[in-house]
Parts: sequence; structure tokens; C-alpha cells
Amino acid sequence: MARVAVVGAGVIGLSAAVCIQKLEPTAQVTIISEEFSPHTTGDGAAGLWTPFLVGSTPLDKVKKWSKATHDFLLELWNTENGGKLGIMLLPVTRVTSDDSLNDEAWKDTVFGYRVLTKKELAATEIPDLTYGTKFVTFICEPAKLLPYLLQRFKEKGGKVIKQRVSDLKTLQHEFDIVVNCTGVQAHHVVGDKKVKPIRGQVLKVEAPEISHAFLSDCEDGHYVIPNQDSVTLGGTHQENDWNRNPYPEDTKFIKEGCEKLYPTLKQAKLVREWVGLRPGRESVRLELEIINIPGGAPLKVKFIIVSQTLLRNNTPTFDLVIAKGVKYLF
Ligand SMILES: Cc1cc2nc3c(=O)[nH]c(=O)nc-3n(C[C@H](O)[C@H](O)[C@H](O)COP(=O)(O)OP(=O)(O)OC[C@H]3O[C@@H](n4cnc5c(N)ncnc54)[C@H](O)[C@@H]3O)c2cc1C
Repeated sequence: MARVAVVGAGVIGLSAAVCIQKLEPTAQVTIISEEFSPHTTGDGAAGLWTPFLVGSTPLDKVKKWSKATHDFLLELWNTENGGKLGIMLLPVTRVTSDDSLNDEAWKDTVFGYRVLTKKELAATEIPDLTYGTKFVTFICEPAKLLPYLLQRFKEKGGKVIKQRVSDLKTLQHEFDIVVNCTGVQAHHVVGDKKVKPIRGQVLKVEAPEISHAFLSDCEDGHYVIPNQDSVTLGGTHQENDWNRNPYPEDTKFIKEGCEKLYPTLKQAKLVREWVGLRPGRESVRLELEIINIPGGAPLKVKFIIVSQTLLRNNTPTFDLVIAKGVKYLF
């Protein structure tokens, strides 16, 4: 029986742990994490599915993983828990002034994808738009999904330890396999200096009249994404900034940009300001490394680190996609 430690209880760690239990029912899986929901990066994210900007990760992998995630969300949405998990099918409009936008990875997965006409682009009144699309896809609120995944993991016999791991090698004697899902902290935990924070600040407001997501990749990229109980307004994408406190100038930038998109937001009640650190990397890291440690059996370390490359107009990647990739490791 393999003893597997999953380090990290964000959306990647929890979904990886659940996938491992399914793939290897005999494995004894333990999640070890310093923080759990509601204190992980996903807890403030809107949770819109659309794999953008996955850097140099091969397109076929992005397509395969993201389709698997879409199927997973569809499956959950079709259960009695769909609503409780904050899963909704959402109409989305996405516009850009960036000619290099590549939607190959996802346009065949979402529902009803179509390219906007020039007339429709002009009607947005956003200057310099070159391209736009409309489609319907899933939103899944991580703050609701994470407790569900943890519960599902425990019900299948998974163990949970709340603890900071300073060095993965310290797990050598208790585990055969370690799956590293520490998000941006992989920069420190495993010394992967390619992993860097992409700081994101958002506002959560009350605006039940908004039921349509709008993403603009122009300027720094404003977006308005409705969840069940609030609407997430974004956002910032500051590379190499580790500060988790809201900046007043960012609040102003988000508020003014989103109010231009939806004037009704001027009346919306602010519920919360929130900052998270996206794990940025030039490409997804999903690989196996064998670490030989003197005086013990080799430790197999499986890395799952999400790619969120900051290109000209970075947009969050839907990271659940990556956790589904775990099946290609086992
Ligand atoms: C503002 C904002 C908006 C976003 N919007 C979206 C969106 O709409 N759609 C989307 O798909 N994505 C979105 N994202 C991105 C997404 O939220 C993150 O990429 C994702 O949550 C990262 O998950 P993770 O599990 O890799 O990392 P994390 O959630 O950061 O989890 C890391 C886990 O590892 C643990 N850990 C770290 N170091 C150690 C250690 N040394 N020992 C033990 N445990 C450790 C932590 O406690 C934590 O539990 C957004 C992000 C931000 C910031």
C-alpha cells in the first residue's frame, strides 16, 4: 500500500488528493497543509473556468486537462450538490485588444462559442478592441467547492494534518510519494525560482442584477464575474509582488474600470476587498522527481505547480484544470 502525502490544501491539493484516491484506492493518502479553506488562494477567486495563458505548456495537454475539468464540473453540476458548490453555467463575453489571444485550448469545450462581429465589438464602446467572443461556461466558487472536496476526501479514508512542511525531505520516512501542491510557496518550499507571485486584488460587491460575466483584456484587464451571493470585480496582476494587503489605488482602479463596463455597479454595496497570490510560472510543472536521500528509500516527489504566465494582459488560469492532470502521473 503506497503512502502518499499531498502537501497543500488549496484547490490543487484537494482535487489532486481526491483524484489519487480514485486512481489508487489502496493508497493511504494524507493531506498536510499549513492552511485550509477559507485561507487559501482560491477562497477569494471567482472560479471561472477558462484556461488562459498557460505559457509554453503544450496545447494538447492544456486541452486534455481543461476538458477533464469541464467534464468534472458538468458532472457535479448535474448532482443535487451543484447549487451548494456554487456551480453555475454562465454566459461570458470576453474582449481583447491583444492580437495574440489564443482561444484554441478552450473554444471547443465551452458551450455556444462564437466570435463577436465588428458591430458587436463597437457596441461595447471600449476603444481599440480587436477581438471578442461569447460563450457559456461554468463558474465554480472555490470557497464552496473546497470544503466539499475535503469532506469527500475524508469520507474515503483520507487523513488530514495541519502543519507547515519546511522541507519535503522530512517526509521521507513516513511516505513513499509526496505530491507538492504548495502553490506560490513552491518558490520557497522546493526552491523553484520559476514560481513567482502574481498578485491579484479583487472587490466583492452586492449586485444581483448582474448575471453575465464580462472580461476585458484591455489595459490591465478589468473583469466582472457574478457568483451566487456576490459579484467579483477585478483585477490586478502584479508580478513578483508578495503583498497580501489591499492597495487603495488598486481599489480605485478596479472600481472605476468595472463601473465603466457596468454603470449599475456605482450603486453596488462593497462586501469585501481581497488579495491573493496566484502561482505564476512559465509553464505547468507536472512531473516526477526521484530524490535519493542518504539513509533511506528514494522519495518520489510529484510536482503540480500551476502556470500563470504574465503575458501582456494576464488573465487567471483555471487551476482546477491542472489538478485533473494528476492522473497522468500515477
Ligand atoms: C484575485 C484572483 C482571482 C482569481 N480568479 C480565478 C478565476 O476566476 N478562475 C480560476 O481558475 N483561477 C482564479 N485565480 C487563480 C486561483 O485562485 C489560484 O491559481 C489557485 O487557487 C491556486 O491554487 P493552489 O492550490 O495551487 O494554491 P493555494 O490555494 O495557494 O494553496 C497552497 C496550499 O499549500 C499550503 N502550503 C504552502 N506552503 C506550505 C508548506 N510549507 N507546508 C504546508 N503547506 C503549505 C497552503 O497553506 C495552501 O493550503 C484567481 C487568483 C486570484 C489571486
